[in-house]
Amino acid sequence: MELFALAKPGFTTVSPDREKVASFDREGRLYAYYRDGLTYRRALDSSLQARWHAPSEAATASGAAGGHDPAVPTGRAGGHDAVGGHRPPRQRRWLTRQEAAQVFAEVYELAAQCVAYASRDVRERLETEILRWTPERLLAEEDRFHRVYVPISILPPDQYMSIVLQATQGCTWNRCTFCSFYQDRPFRAKSPEEFAAHVEAVREFLGRGALMRKGIFLADGNALALSQARLEAMFATAKEAFPGHAIYSFIDLYTGERRSVAGWRRLAELGLQRVYIGMETGHDELLRFLNKPGSREELISFVSDLKQAGVQVGLVAMVGVGGAEYREPHAEATVEAISRMPLGPGDLVYLSPFVEHPGSAYAARRAEAQLTPMGEAEIEAELQRLARQVRSLGVNAARYDIREFIY
Ligand code: SF4
Repeated sequence: MELFALAKPGFTTVSPDREKVASFDREGRLYAYYRDGLTYRRALDSSLQARWHAPSEAATASGAAGGHDPAVPTGRAGGHDAVGGHRPPRQRRWLTRQEAAQVFAEVYELAAQCVAYASRDVRERLETEILRWTPERLLAEEDRFHRVYVPISILPPDQYMSIVLQATQGCTWNRCTFCSFYQDRPFRAKSPEEFAAHVEAVREFLGRGALMRKGIFLADGNALALSQARLEAMFATAKEAFPGHAIYSFIDLYTGERRSVAGWRRLAELGLQRVYIGMETGHDELLRFLNKPGSREELISFVSDLKQAGVQVGLVAMVGVGGAEYREPHAEATVEAISRMPLGPGDLVYLSPFVEHPGSAYAARRAEAQLTPMGEAEIEAELQRLARQVRSLGVNAARYDIREFIY
């Protein structure tokens, strides 16, 4: 066997031949596995997603915020899982538990075969961390995960490797017609004691797996809507458990606007690095159609406040929303709004291909308004066009496909 292996502080990678690469966290749990053009990514609840590139010339927008995750194996011959460049579109499928168990068995058998060929440090990791796991024990992580977290519905793409702490559950608004992320739960904030217990449970659950994660993401939808005193206490609890990590979170315009610049500045001093705002569109009429509160002018002024306070901003705009009839006005108003924001190198605009959920309030309204849904290829082309326009303003733009979300 011509074994290639890496024993990094945050993860271990073994590759017994050019077509197989497996990475594990420092608890020894499978993180990702590449075999024959397929990449498997394990979520923390041990669900497993298979990903592959379709043989097509279609391109995707390059991602300023993405970058290659060194722990995601892509084969020694060099696959491309990172966001960026011109690549065929990525396909994906969640495996059944039975299929996942088969992949886990294959990976751990492979790891066992590597022991005899490994250097001393890699052999030690294989024996003391990785080979402690069996497919059954890995599948049982699902129960452990659900004892610690309510479902984590979504994260921004550059936060998939953060440590998620759920300060709140749900969304304070929960009425945007296109959004189903938090419809299974009413909004509620955790008490300081409950949050501290949750943080401790996350620390125990991740164990040394936290070594491969960067940053703390304060979830769910609107954690930053909490009062200043409550947030400052939560920041302190989170930073004490995971020192040295910056803090990130979602915020919506209608709750975020209520905090003063001084309040935001204080949170930035306490570690708040970047907030992510669901802009959706710069077109007010379309925003109302989506039943999302706020307006373009309010958003521009809110972003200015955040920048004045020293907080970075990630804006999320949806591409294809409103159908073909809104394509041009949506693009024009969105790019115009972005051009009026004081965005810099740490900020970015995520362009998210719109996914219409059948049976959603959006689908009903769209049909009633006789708007023509845009096809997938049309949306991709539009996304490319918008990415170019945003970048021509000197602002980072990246693709954000919610179907790729994994934690
Ligand atoms: S505010 Fe955000 S999380 Fe809440 S319903 Fe709207 S899109 Fe969903």
